[in-house]
Formats: sequence, structure tokens, C-alpha cells
Amino acid sequence: MIIFTGVAGSGKSVQGRMLADERGYPWLSTGEFLRMIVAGEPRKRMLEGKLLHDDEIIAIIERVFNLISFQEEFVLDGFPRTMKQADWLIDFAQNHGADVSLVIHMVADQATVRERLLARGRPDDHAEAIDERFEEYEQSIKPILDLLKQRGIRVVDIEANRSIAEIHQEIVAVVTEHTKED
Ligand code: AMP
Repeated sequence: MIIFTGVAGSGKSVQGRMLADERGYPWLSTGEFLRMIVAGEPRKRMLEGKLLHDDEIIAIIERVFNLISFQEEFVLDGFPRTMKQADWLIDFAQNHGADVSLVIHMVADQATVRERLLARGRPDDHAEAIDERFEEYEQSIKPILDLLKQRGIRVVDIEANRSIAEIHQEIVAVVTEHTKED
């Protein structure tokens, strides 16, 4: 699996989906699934830019993994977002004959992505929710990336303040190179 991670508005979903289309991989986005199926109080939390609880999201992602051939390559967008999720994913992958082959970390300047998000106008793209999501990213991303690196997983930083086409080209090059090395 290839994990796409980055702050809200960094373009991780656009880029993850473009890579999936190019390669013919499934594209699993936890945010997309949650917006389809979550109801009640957790849905309100999402609109405030807050994370779902780990046990809630893990129960969902386990079912989502059942929808695809988990051992084949796929793009995972929006997961893991906490250390508990990262630990769970590494264990789950090991126990099911899959592995994390690569992490694409979209690195974006927050002033730029704030403008992008306000222009996009999803229901959770208002000022308070954007702050909440930036804060969550700042706190959780570094320890998660450190853990994945410790496990020998390659993490590639991609400069996200560029055109969609340029970024896509770089990601395809990274993935092609990485696949050759395997
Ligand atoms: P995204 O589309 O990735 O920006 O996710 C939108 C929202 O879905 C987030 O702000 C969270 O409320 C929720 N969400 C997505 N992925 C996760 C996750 N791995 N853990 C907890 N909440 C999540």
C-alpha cells in the first residue's frame, strides 16, 4: 500500500486519486468513506474538523479493507492519523500478508492551503475547523512518520505548493523508481 498524508488542503486526495487512476490501483480515502456513512454525533465532530475516535475509525477501515484485495497495491488516503492507528495498521498489515511500501508526505505552506480550503468550501472548510485540522496535523504527523521510518518504510516529502500536473509527475517518478528497487 502507498499511504498519502499531509495537511488539509495539501492536495493529498487529488494526487492520491491521480496516482491510483494512472496505475489502476484502488484508492481508499477514509474522509470520503466517512462523509458517505457517518451519522449523528460523530458527523458533527467531523464538521468541526475533529478526528473520529480511534476505535470508530479502526472498525470502519477494517471493513473497508475487506472490500479490496488487501495484498495487492492500493493507495490509502487519510489513514493513519494517530499513533494508535499507525500501530494498528502496521500490525494488521503484517498479519494479513501486506505491507506499507511507501509514504508520500505532501508538504504545504499553511497560508496557501488555508486560501485553497476556503475557496473549496466543503462543510468542514470554515475557519475554526481548518484551525482544528492544522493543529491535529502538526501534533500527530511527526511521530507517525518517525514510527513508519523506524519500521524501514520509505517516506518521501513532496513540495505541494506547485501545479497539480508538476506534483503528479514527481509522484509518478518516485513510485516508478521505488517499484524498480523492490
Ligand atoms: P479528509 O477528507 O482526509 O480531510 O478527512 C475529513 C475528516 O474525516 C477529518 O477531519 C476527520 O474528521 C475524519 N477522518 C478522516 N480520516 C480519519 C482518521 N484516520 N481518523 C479519524 N478521523 C478521520
